[in-house]
Amino acid sequence: MTFSVAIVGRPNVGKSTLFNRLVGKRLALVDNQPGVTRDLREGAARLGDLRFTVIDTAGLEDATDESLQGRMRKLTERAVDMADICLFVIDARTGVTPTDESLAEILRKRSAHVILAANKAEGSAADAGVIEAWGLGLGEPIRMSAEHGEGLNDLYSQLMPLADAFEARAAAEAPEVDVSLDEDIEDDEDVSYRKPTEARPMQVAVVGRPNAGKSTLINKILGEERLLTGPEAGITRDAISLRIDWDGMPVRIFDTAGMRKKAKVQDKLEKLSVSDGLRAVKFAEVVVVLLDAAIPFEQQDLRIADLAEREGRAVVVAINKWDMEPDKSDKIRELREAFERLLPQLRGAPLVTVSAKTGKGLDRLRDAVAKAHEVWNRRVTTAQLNRWLIGMLEQHPPPAPGGRRVKLRYMTQAKTRPPGFVVMCSHPDKLPESYSRYLVNGLRADFDMPGTPIRLYFRSQA
Ligand code: GDP
Ligand code: GDP
Repeated sequence: MTFSVAIVGRPNVGKSTLFNRLVGKRLALVDNQPGVTRDLREGAARLGDLRFTVIDTAGLEDATDESLQGRMRKLTERAVDMADICLFVIDARTGVTPTDESLAEILRKRSAHVILAANKAEGSAADAGVIEAWGLGLGEPIRMSAEHGEGLNDLYSQLMPLADAFEARAAAEAPEVDVSLDEDIEDDEDVSYRKPTEARPMQVAVVGRPNAGKSTLINKILGEERLLTGPEAGITRDAISLRIDWDGMPVRIFDTAGMRKKAKVQDKLEKLSVSDGLRAVKFAEVVVVLLDAAIPFEQQDLRIADLAEREGRAVVVAINKWDMEPDKSDKIRELREAFERLLPQLRGAPLVTVSAKTGKGLDRLRDAVAKAHEVWNRRVTTAQLNRWLIGMLEQHPPPAPGGRRVKLRYMTQAKTRPPGFVVMCSHPDKLPESYSRYLVNGLRADFDMPGTPIRLYFRSQA
């Protein structure tokens, strides 16, 4: 079994029905397993070619009313801690309730991977509820009917990439991707940002062409020659990850070059480093793209930076070997210009000059990484967004193809890491790319989100 999925949600939304659909008759274990309480059922699920463990958190109906809320919260937290992925179910006929909101908040804070299902969505009675579900900030809701078996394809498509990632993790024997969640998270904690902690370090990958200076950089940050002289912790076949404290910031840093050197496969380095880079990018939250100032923005650099953006990672570009640069101020202008032109999708991402060799600029790199991580986690309230949207529409109304203006009605942040927003509108297919860019650039500027990938989804309002 490669990964586990916990089905969570308030009573009566259809969790057990969904559980039964995924498990069929393959119920593996119940009640009296050690560590599994009466409230949790586990089964072997099958969906297409995916095999996983599914955990059902139903069984709360017995609870008395006053204890229900607290127990649900506890149970949800436990399910989150046990499972790789949470499948959060709401009742689309009822719409989003305050209880759904509070469970969603727990999930946003505690769970690395959440999939949202708006259940009982057969027929049009559920349309409004499905739209409301976007506002939970957990990504695109799956329109589902557990009873009628609808929406399982969409569930498959959302599980698939995660399953891939978990498989890659198992295959690479990588250290745990995320998160130990035993520490208490306070209610009034700023939901917009999960600060890295010892238990939950920030995942940083340093990628770049061979000889860009990745190992030198990481060694410098570590302050010792650990990478090249035989690291003990966290070696995987292809990449190295090390837990470090980067000036007070708990970080797990992935390096893809060190092991290669040790294994003396220099000749294959060029080819291999690309796939290593890909893997590191998948695990990372922040990707540091390290360029050699003498030969910046080569094809391979552009590819990895673009990949990081498409994977939705926060990106920081570091220009290395700055100590060798004779004419620094001309060079930085030239680099900024090239960056804007070649990587417009990363507009506003920080560009930091460093010397891995001397250590100069590494404090600025650290600050840029910290800031990028925070921006990547940023959450904007729905009220703020809709006020903002009105202003944007007034300033520059959307086009009116064939005389009929596309109406943008409502906007909400559907996810973080990276920030994703959904805009409800008429005729989303008629809205030109340029208008989407106008909104994305506006979001960046007005809500201070430079550099991070921003996703915008246009959905038609039924
Ligand atoms: P749980 O408490 O979350 O486990 O919910 P159940 O699976 O027990 O379902 C609660 C009720 O909703 C039952 O009467 C189900 O038959 C019904 N239900 C579950 N899924 C659907 C669905 O997709 N559509 C409709 N209309 N009803 C459903
Ligand atoms: P990697 O393949 O990306 O890990 O690159 P290395 O860390 O092995 O560095 C490649 C070469 O560049 C080595 O000879 C380093 O000494 C050199 N190098 C790395 N960083 C700097 C730097 O900031 N300045 C200078 N002058 N040389 C550097």
